[in-house]
Amino acid sequence: MQEGIKALGRAIAEAEKVVVFTGAGVSTECGIPDFRSPGGLWSRYDPSDFYFHRFLTSEASRKVYWRMYREFFPLLHKASPGRAHRACKRLLEMGKLLAVITQNVDGLHQRAGVPDELVVELHGRATEVRCLQCQEVYCSEEIERRLKGGCEVPTCDRCGGLLKPATVSFGQALPPEALSAAEKYAKECDLMIAAGSSLLVHPAAMIPLIAQEGGAKLAIVNLTPTPYDERADLVIRGEAGEVMEKAVEEAMLAHDQ
Ligand code: NAD
Repeated sequence: MQEGIKALGRAIAEAEKVVVFTGAGVSTECGIPDFRSPGGLWSRYDPSDFYFHRFLTSEASRKVYWRMYREFFPLLHKASPGRAHRACKRLLEMGKLLAVITQNVDGLHQRAGVPDELVVELHGRATEVRCLQCQEVYCSEEIERRLKGGCEVPTCDRCGGLLKPATVSFGQALPPEALSAAEKYAKECDLMIAAGSSLLVHPAAMIPLIAQEGGAKLAIVNLTPTPYDERADLVIRGEAGEVMEKAVEEAMLAHDQ
């Protein structure tokens, strides 16, 4: 792994426009579980309850959905940015960060100091809850309080409509502006680092490939294999936080020399 970290450090030092594409694995060290690892959310919930049409049509699925959020919100609200989030901020300070493209809904990149306009949230954000009918926005802390108070399926105070976190569920389209911004950054960068993502969720997982097809180097940092490892220029099997932190340190050293 040490050789891989050095190689990533060199790639960062040589690059001018870095895009970091992140998945749930950059936030596991912050106490937010991913979906697919053992003990992850899909080992305890049935993904079929999380399809958008099920949310719209089944009270039972809505109850399961909000039960998961009753578990997820306290973790989200307690979490602080981790080493990979801070490494992205450091890339920004080095003048190398073009953008962060994230599948995460936890807002931790912004909390680490990367400006909102440089963070493309492909799957929305869980820190906001919206009425599906009148679009009224609620903060997730308020909804967490309602859930803790025994409410099973929160509804809008204004119109009585269904509330839902402002995230993209299975069966919902990705926000078109986010997808086109992600494609633009992918085509523009000269180094794409995909960190902490299984690269199994489409269309988000196409973004690193678009970068590579546009001529960028592709580095993959993940604990487990991904479908694109064979195509990548560099694969580092390790903790995203540790690898990102050390690789950015290596790049800073190379810069100073
Ligand atoms: P995923 O659960 O499919 O994959 C996470 C990957 O990260 C896995 O391959 C796992 O091996 C790896 N991993 C776990 N801990 C790691 C670590 N410390 N270092 C390196 N790798 C690590 O998640 P995904 O690919 O991001 O996409 C699935 C969906 O999960 C997305 O739609 C996203 O919205 C959602 N999600 C987000 C959060 C969050 O916002 N923090 C949490 C759970 C799920």
